[in-house]
Amino acid sequence: MIQFRDLHAQYLALKNDIDKGINEVIESSSFILGKQVNALEKELADFVGRKYCVSCGNGTDALVLALKAYNIGPGDAVFTADFTYIASASCAELVGATSILVDINLETFNISPISLEKQIEKVIAEGKLKPKAIVAVDLFGLPADYEEIVKIATKYNLLIVEDAAQGFGGKIREKRACSFGDISCTSFFPAKPLGCYGDGGAIFTDDESIADRLKSLRAGGKSPNDKYDNREIGTNSRLDTIQAAILIPKFHAFKDYEIKNVNEVANLYSSLLEEVVIVPRVPTGYLSSWAQYTILLKNSDERLRVQQALKNNGIPSMIYYPRGMHQQQAFKKYGLEDVDYPNSVEATKRVLSLPMHPYLKKEEIEYICSIIKKEIE
Ligand SMILES: *Cc1c(COP(=O)(O)O)cnc(C)c1O
Repeated sequence: MIQFRDLHAQYLALKNDIDKGINEVIESSSFILGKQVNALEKELADFVGRKYCVSCGNGTDALVLALKAYNIGPGDAVFTADFTYIASASCAELVGATSILVDINLETFNISPISLEKQIEKVIAEGKLKPKAIVAVDLFGLPADYEEIVKIATKYNLLIVEDAAQGFGGKIREKRACSFGDISCTSFFPAKPLGCYGDGGAIFTDDESIADRLKSLRAGGKSPNDKYDNREIGTNSRLDTIQAAILIPKFHAFKDYEIKNVNEVANLYSSLLEEVVIVPRVPTGYLSSWAQYTILLKNSDERLRVQQALKNNGIPSMIYYPRGMHQQQAFKKYGLEDVDYPNSVEATKRVLSLPMHPYLKKEEIEYICSIIKKEIE
């Protein structure tokens, strides 16, 4: 049976270390902020090239905590891609700010710098909100176009929050995902490139005072030396010690061979499929961590046929995403229209994500591609 993302195959490969790690935590009974949490934070910060890593309860909280740490709130405009998972856009709303949705580039599925600048100018012209931040999403594992995003952020004096929930492990030349922009966030939801066995997340920064504030905000707003004298209103969002113990061996496999393996899977898919569908483009100098391998079909009819053919042969596939943020009920209040999001709308009609994980076998990939080719040709 081909799995969309085979978490069990990964568990079997790492079983000894994972089981040992879980047992150590239970034996020590240090379930909250135990030593494994610190050890993991240090390893992850080193890997991505940031000074500080502050882990937390999930990727959504990571984004919310990042915005809170920079005092973003009511009256502020936070720009993000229209084509993404809800948390990239809801984080701004959760701190009382306004999420401004931006169209994407259909080639990379990431935010379009041209549309971004247009939306910033529009907000300035309207004069109701103060442009404050860009939540740049590394969608499907591919880092966003930071070269252009940094230029725009500098021009308009905006904070860059990297949403690397799907991007952990990716690169632009020698720089790793989670090192782009001012502050970076990731998720350890089980199906993400680096996942744990429940919910988890992390925030990366080079700013000591921001790291310090994040550590307080994730623990009720506690003061550094007296946890029952809260210096501000915080939340409860920590990474369980058991999850950190699971993540340590999983991270080692991730950096030692899983990133390489998913790139081999993607290359084989692309070489077998490039003549019949539009395969994902990775710009020169970029490395994707392949949270998803997403092809573009000609139209929704062809997608329906391909998805059905795959299903009839026992192969799972997914539509990420069937709707843009502007089409979601939660954003109806802004009265946004499809005409302003042509690429995002186009993507929702034509994308199809195929099985992708580091333990996918060559024969399985060949089989999946043969079904797609037979349906299209
Ligand atoms: C999964 C995801 C998140 C949120 O992560 P959770 O841990 O599920 O809260 C944020 N942004 C993107 C792009 C995601 O894919």
